[in-house]
Amino acid sequence: MSLDNLRDLYQQVILERYKKPRNKGTTNPVDRYQKGHNPSCGDTIELTLHLVDDRIQDVKFEGEGCAIAMASADLMAEALKGKTATDALEMVQRFQAMMKGEAEFPQELRKLNVMQGVAQFPVRIKCANLSWHTLKAALELSANAQPAGFVSNE
Ligand code: ZN
Repeated sequence: MSLDNLRDLYQQVILERYKKPRNKGTTNPVDRYQKGHNPSCGDTIELTLHLVDDRIQDVKFEGEGCAIAMASADLMAEALKGKTATDALEMVQRFQAMMKGEAEFPQELRKLNVMQGVAQFPVRIKCANLSWHTLKAALELSANAQPAGFVSNE
């Protein structure tokens, strides 16, 4: 497959996720809630998590923004189900490294690698990182803390 075809394939997956997200909504119950904002593009996300004993049972998001931000949130939500908070924080680091072209996900998480192409477009990296950045803030909140308003990735 040529590089151009590969790029088209990634774009198709991103557009498909944007049009038909599979993880939109709010978890029940909500154990963590965090809003995130990417001022450089105007993307916003509201992330909710259902956790049992530090294990992520469910992740949902609401938000508005560009296709890259929304597709990234949808793919992230799917990939996180069943992971521990520690696994999830490691995935945040790996995703951020992937946006610098320095890492990719292993076979079992390869769906996340469709976002790899974004690394070539520096202005869109913040869009792809927004949901991960918001997740990190959500996981670092203690269970009873009040959400600290918007986290911004500026
Ligand atoms: Zn964006």
